[in-house]
Amino acid sequence: AAKEAGKGRVVEHDPQRKAGQLTRFQVAMQLPGLVERGELALVYQPLVRLSDGDLHSVEALLRWKHPTMGSLSPDMFIRIAEENAAILPIGRWVLDRACADLAVSDWPAVNINVSVRQLYSPQFVDDLRRALDRAELEPSRLRVEITESVVMNLEDTEPIAVLDSMIDLGVRLVMDDFGTGYSNLAALRRLPWHELKLAGTFLQSTRSGRPWSPTDQRILKTLVDLAHSLDLLVTAEGVETAEQDAQIRGIGCDVAQGWFYAVPEPLHPSSDVTAKRVPPVTAPTPVIRPGS
Ligand code: C2E
Ligand code: MG
Ligand code: MG
Ligand code: MG
Repeated sequence: AAKEAGKGRVVEHDPQRKAGQLTRFQVAMQLPGLVERGELALVYQPLVRLSDGDLHSVEALLRWKHPTMGSLSPDMFIRIAEENAAILPIGRWVLDRACADLAVSDWPAVNINVSVRQLYSPQFVDDLRRALDRAELEPSRLRVEITESVVMNLEDTEPIAVLDSMIDLGVRLVMDDFGTGYSNLAALRRLPWHELKLAGTFLQSTRSGRPWSPTDQRILKTLVDLAHSLDLLVTAEGVETAEQDAQIRGIGCDVAQGWFYAVPEPLHPSSDVTAKRVPPVTAPTPVIRPGS
């Protein structure tokens, strides 16, 4: 239940309950036109290759620059947007913005998060193709993150077919939040994943000061070995401390992401003429998440 509250799910079932100072009803009312009002922004967080500290990719993380509330985490509104059509224009905006930003950056690649509603949209693959063409990007530099629980819930063949065409395009598929669902081995077999991100929740025991037990350690090491035997790269998410950095290195993770290495930040446009076409994004303010 605590995790559900953390993800803002409680808000869904109780219209009176406040998420920050916004009710679920207020969020739903304000979602339409978000793109047109220019209230969305992306921040980018580095994924660091552990062997040499080089940049592996960046993850685009969505923010709602709310006129009165400040910067809202997607955990405050994505779920609500998924219940109506609002997620589709938002998802398209994220895709276009991230590709345009990648084109003017020196990042090797960009990861975007995609919600299940987008995978049911027949337009999704066309949108991908168009965004890549427009920004003149090599498709393998775009990586789509899908959470493990979503994949497990895909009962239709339709979204799987969408993902297959996406992979045919050359876009890479990343399993997000691996290990949070009922998992995982079936989900691994279902699609040609390129990378896997170990859920930050695995670091929670270390976050509360306790190290991993020998059993935790062995299970996680085995997961990483399994992923490697399937030729998947493994990223550890949510790494906050040097101790956690040592632990994820100890189990053989390839890539890491978290406040220990770098926080999410907006792309700062350079003085380059091309880059000037990118609207500047306001400086990050503290992010409001459910329950805060
Ligand atoms: P995610 O994809 O698992 O992203 C990682 C989350 O962990 C982000 O939260 C990030 O800001 C946060 N984080 C990064 N480093 C650390 C750390 O060291 N410690 C801790 N505790 N957290 C860290 P954020 O930005 O609030 O995003 C929450 C979730 O919203 C994301 O989880 C993703 O599932 C979803 N999301 C983000 N952007 C988009 C988007 O453009 N579209 C869709 N559909 N979902 C999005
Ligand atoms: Mg993600
Ligand atoms: Mg994740
Ligand atoms: Mg997540």
